Amino acid sequence: MQVQRVVLNSRPGKNGAPVPENFRVEETTLVPDLKDGEVLVRTLCLSVDPYMRCRMNEDTGVDYVAPWQLSESVDGGGVGVVESSRCTTCSEGGVVTAFNWPWQTYAVMKGSVLQKVDPQLVDGHLSYLLGAVGMTGLTALLGIREKGNVIQGANQTMVVSGAAGACGSIAGQFGRLDGCVRVVGICGSDEKCRALVDDLGFSAAINYRQEDVPTRLKDHCPDGIDVYFDNVGGAISDTVIAQMNKDGHVILCGQISQYNKDVPYPPPLSEEIHETLRRKNITRERFMVLNYMHKAEAALCELSQRVKSGQINVLETVVNGIENMGDAFCSMMKGGNIGKQIIKISE
Ligand code: NDP
Repeated sequence: MQVQRVVLNSRPGKNGAPVPENFRVEETTLVPDLKDGEVLVRTLCLSVDPYMRCRMNEDTGVDYVAPWQLSESVDGGGVGVVESSRCTTCSEGGVVTAFNWPWQTYAVMKGSVLQKVDPQLVDGHLSYLLGAVGMTGLTALLGIREKGNVIQGANQTMVVSGAAGACGSIAGQFGRLDGCVRVVGICGSDEKCRALVDDLGFSAAINYRQEDVPTRLKDHCPDGIDVYFDNVGGAISDTVIAQMNKDGHVILCGQISQYNKDVPYPPPLSEEIHETLRRKNITRERFMVLNYMHKAEAALCELSQRVKSGQINVLETVVNGIENMGDAFCSMMKGGNIGKQIIKISE
């Protein structure tokens, strides 16, 4: 059968923004001759994520993901449907998901890497399995629960950077549900600020491209900042940390502002910020959702219930067509998305 796939065409280099031309769409022939344990899947939707930026380098610099190889299929989070199966645990017509789904319209995969999912978990919104009821939802929820020290009734203020993205938009809502009296988001456009306040219940939002972040933080956080969910790092995070209260907690989720630079992860902090953390006894431990997979099942149940009951609102930016994968990835890296960036491959 003829299938379309996306391969890595070129590497952006460790310093530099990725461009759509780093990816190439190809037609290829797939022989759906299944061996024992294999499954033919049709791809429904795919995820693009910031961590993929390091997979574009020859060396990812981290031990938990491997680099993509030139002219080979790119892969990441995906959801699809089983078309035919020689695997006892995957039945035809079933919905499945995987972390290493090839960017292909159809693929032969090992049944052992696929997780079966009940579409009821997301009321049929299967793309949520890649976002709010998937990895980014887990990251937000577990990040807060493991590293945030949010306590009901403790009068805490939370700040979220990258607040209108997949993780940030859920993190802010959990900050409020878990008991923060004030949740302030930092993001890159007025439209995003409006969505945070009007649709997601943030107390206030700051457009870091237009507004003076230190001043606006002081305005919106009159009692200082107790918990910081950090998705971006760099100057924004330095500014937030400088305004944090004694005994505060930074949830070190991601540092996207540094991903197009040749720096280690997490990028080194200035001596001044180190000194602030020390002096104010602020914790800033690295959070990696992959280290908490033993808590994923219970957390996914909670995410599913909160989304279905309307306690958590889900924002998505959806584009259609495998030919747009490269564009969608590069756009997400520059802030083109509100909520989770999804690429719909088939109905
Ligand atoms: P998002 O949906 O948040 O998309 C990325 C967003 O980052 C963009 O929309 C953009 O929004 C913002 N951004 C890009 N460049 C900059 C910059 N220079 N300064 C400030 N903001 C910028 O992606 P995810 O929710 O998937 O990921 C968010 C973060 O969480 C990333 O750092 C990622 O690596 C991390 N992560 C960590 C995990 C873990 O286990 N620790 C797991 C999953 C994700 P804007 O318009 O606001 O600029």
